[in-house]
Amino acid sequence: MNIHEYQAKELLAKHGIGVPDGHLATSVAEAVAAAEKLPGPLYVVKAQIHAGGRGKGKFKELGPDAKGGVRLAHSVDEVREDAGEMLGHTLVTKQTGDEGKEVQRLYVTDGVDIAQEYYLALLVDRASGRPAMVVSTEGGMDIEAVAEETPEKIVTITIDPLAGFTEADGRRAAEALRLEGDLAEACGKLCADLYEAFVANDCAMLEINPLVETGDGELLVLDTKMSFDSNAEFRHPEWEALRDTSEEDPMELEASKYDLAYIKLDGNIGCMVNGAGLAMATMDIIKLNGAFPANFCDVGGGADKEKVAAAFRIILSDPAVEGMLVNIFGGIMRCDTIAEGIISAAKEVGISVPLVVRLEGTNVEKGKAILAESDLKVVPADDLGDAARKIVAEVNKAG
Ligand code: GDP
Ligand code: MG
Repeated sequence: MNIHEYQAKELLAKHGIGVPDGHLATSVAEAVAAAEKLPGPLYVVKAQIHAGGRGKGKFKELGPDAKGGVRLAHSVDEVREDAGEMLGHTLVTKQTGDEGKEVQRLYVTDGVDIAQEYYLALLVDRASGRPAMVVSTEGGMDIEAVAEETPEKIVTITIDPLAGFTEADGRRAAEALRLEGDLAEACGKLCADLYEAFVANDCAMLEINPLVETGDGELLVLDTKMSFDSNAEFRHPEWEALRDTSEEDPMELEASKYDLAYIKLDGNIGCMVNGAGLAMATMDIIKLNGAFPANFCDVGGGADKEKVAAAFRIILSDPAVEGMLVNIFGGIMRCDTIAEGIISAAKEVGISVPLVVRLEGTNVEKGKAILAESDLKVVPADDLGDAARKIVAEVNKAG
């Protein structure tokens, strides 16, 4: 789960971490009021979307020479002008895809006099199975390009979760950023505070780009991206309020209401499966037969008729779906339940695309009989390979 920059900065500030002052605005009037609360004369107006690269981004509705999604403003009037150009318009950045994202919120912050920009991130490193801090002197710019062209400029510090972030870790970070004296000391403290915030908030990732040294020799978090590990949701009731559902895929959101795992993909075959392993195998075998999945919806182990019907609705609501493959192994979930779910969903939404069903496991004969006796046009399949071949053939025939 991702949150906005302004929300992440509020969380960091609670851990004593320095961030520029700022206020959220959802209208031009609020942006002006926000600027009036700040000392000036430099302000920054920042589009709040769940994507990076805003500074270099372009607004779809404005010309190619218009300013991007992070703007320095030198007066309250300029803030007003920028807010008017940004709100309600679509920002396209390297991370949004061509469709871009509509800007509905702005963060108006105090403009900072930057002496130096650094990069710092905390993440869970799969290779070591530990948290890691990644730092680089090459902040502010495209860290992926730095990793590719000058990987020696990126330093990774692996953190022992039992010991926590140690003073030695802090010294290594400061050294990697070539900071000395008071700044090195401030860096050690900042890194320890960031690690504490990372752990306390169950972050999957906390990226600061840039971390800046100001003209006054202070370290400040100028930009941050924070994402949470959804597995820890049960102990963070406060996350609900941080969620911006307009940033989420509407179908994935609908699926989460039914406790279904739905993932949108690029192909034309909708897949209803149970279990992540079967989902992967189903997608592989569709690809092996020369087609691509449009999505997959995992109904899990203990689905009932309503859940299956919801999965059906969600999969078919995607206009890219030209055929649907149901691939279920009935363990806890019985095949006759699936069959009943399919029939009631088909009645409710109506199926206009070919449907191939492969059932195996508990009550499989009962399930197959229910489908065969219904007046639904279902193509039955015997095994995974058969199912994939049949749905690909059906889609090709229809298309
Ligand atoms: P991003 O493009 O989405 O990563 O947004 P950032 O918040 O990182 O801003 C992009 C760039 O704008 C930064 O790397 C800075 O160079 C510049 N910038 C942002 N805030 C300030 C500020 O307060 N003062 C100055 N001088 N530049 C800023
Ligand atoms: Mg940035």
